[in-house]
Amino acid sequence: FPRVIKEEQHQIARKYLDDNAAKVVYRLLDGGHEAYLVGGCIRDLLLKKRPKDFDVATSAHPEEAHQLFKRSRLIGRRFKLLHVRFGRDLIEVATFRANHDSNDNENETLGKQSDSGLILRDNVYGTIEDDAVRRDFTINALYYSVADKSIYDFANGYDDIEKRTIRMIGEPDSRYREDPVRMLRAIRFSAKLNFTIEPATEAPIKPLANLLQDIAPARLFDETLKLLQSGHGEASFALLKEYNLLEQLLPLTQQAINDPTTGKQAETLIINALKNTDRRLSQRKSVTPAFLFAVLLWQPLQNRMQALLKETRMPVYTAMQTAANEIISEQVKRIAIPKRFSVPMREIWELQLKLPKRHGHRAQQTLEQPRFRAAYDLLLLREQSGEQTDNLGQWWTRYQSASEDEKSNMVAQIK
Ligand code: ATP
Ligand code: MG
Repeated sequence: FPRVIKEEQHQIARKYLDDNAAKVVYRLLDGGHEAYLVGGCIRDLLLKKRPKDFDVATSAHPEEAHQLFKRSRLIGRRFKLLHVRFGRDLIEVATFRANHDSNDNENETLGKQSDSGLILRDNVYGTIEDDAVRRDFTINALYYSVADKSIYDFANGYDDIEKRTIRMIGEPDSRYREDPVRMLRAIRFSAKLNFTIEPATEAPIKPLANLLQDIAPARLFDETLKLLQSGHGEASFALLKEYNLLEQLLPLTQQAINDPTTGKQAETLIINALKNTDRRLSQRKSVTPAFLFAVLLWQPLQNRMQALLKETRMPVYTAMQTAANEIISEQVKRIAIPKRFSVPMREIWELQLKLPKRHGHRAQQTLEQPRFRAAYDLLLLREQSGEQTDNLGQWWTRYQSASEDEKSNMVAQIK
C-alpha cells in the first residue's frame, strides 16, 4: 500500500546518489535482505540540496549486516546501528524498527519505555511498514530503491515536501513524549529547509519543552551543534527562543537575554556570531564549538563576574575564573560540553582580559596565543553589540598587519 513514485516523476538523477551508499544497498540485497536509501538524503535530493549524509534502512539485523562489511562497526545501545566506512565517508545502516506498542513488549532487552512514554531502548525490529511509521516526520520517511529507482512513500511525505510542511507521523503529543529531541528536530528542519511546521505538529512543542530535561546532556550537545553550527544557526536560534526551547538548552543564556539591562546586547552578540558562523559554513570554512559556547555564555559570565566583584574583593582575573567555573558547571547539567571545547572556551574568555593590556611585549605575546584569532573575533562581536572597549578591536586589526616598526610605534603610543 505505499505510494510508489517512479523515476520519471521524482527525477532524482542517479549521479547524485552516493556510490558508497549504493554499494552498501547492493551488498545487502545480494545477501538476501531488503535495503533502501532513506531519510534526510532522499528528502534533500528532492529539494535539490546536497545531502549531509546517506542513511540505509534494511531488513538485515545489525549483526547480520555487520558480517557483510569488512570495514564496519556496530554502535549505539539505545538505538543500535552499523557504521560502514569508506575512507572518510561513513554510511549509517539501520535495521527496520517497529513501534513498541505494536509489539507485546515481551522482550525488554530490545525495547523499553519509561512510565512517561520516553523510549529508553529502541531495538525492536519490524517490517518496512513498521519502520516508516516510527520515523519522526513524513518528509523523513521516504524510501528509495536502488534496484527499481522508485521512491516508496508510506506516510505522504512526498506531498508534504511539495507543500513544504513538517508533519509528525502519528499523534504528535505522544511522539514527542517518546523522544523529546523530536521537538528540536522539528525546528531544525523548519530552519534548514524553510518549511512550515503544521499546526498539530507545532502545538505540543511549547507545552512539552521541559521534557528535554530527561534527555542525556551528551545527546543535547550533538543536537545543539546540529542546530547552531550547521549553516542555519541564526534561523534555528530564533525558533529555539520562540518555542521556549532555548531556556531548556541554555537556561543561563535565556536569563541573560531576559535581563532588561544586558538582554539586548547579549542577544545581538549571539545573533551576529551566528550570522558569521552561517556565512563561514556557506564558504566551507571551519567553525568550533569552543567559540560558539564562548559566545552563548559570554553575558552570563559577565553578569556572574560583576556580581562577584561587587560581593567580594577578588581580583578581576580570579573573578573570571570563579565565574567561569560556576557557569560551566551549571551549563553542563543540560549540555555536556566536552573538555576539549570547554578548555579553549575558557582561554578565549581569559584573553578578553589580556587584549586591553598591550604595554611592552604583552601585545606580541597575546598575538602569539593559539586562541588569539577566536579571542579577537569575540572582541569585535562585543564591540558590534554595543559594548564600550575604546576601539580596542580597531587597534588589534591594525596591529596584526603592521610591520615590526609600526608595531613598536603603536605600543609606544599607548598611554
Ligand atoms: P540530516 O542528516 O540532514 O540532519 P536526517 O533526517 O537524515 O537529517 P538523521 O539524524 O541522519 O536525520 O536521521 C536519519 C533518519 O532517521 C531521519 O530522516 C528519520 O527518518 C529517522 N530519525 C532520526 N532521528 C529520529 C528520531 N529521534 N525519531 C524518529 N525518527 C528519527
Ligand atoms: Mg541523515
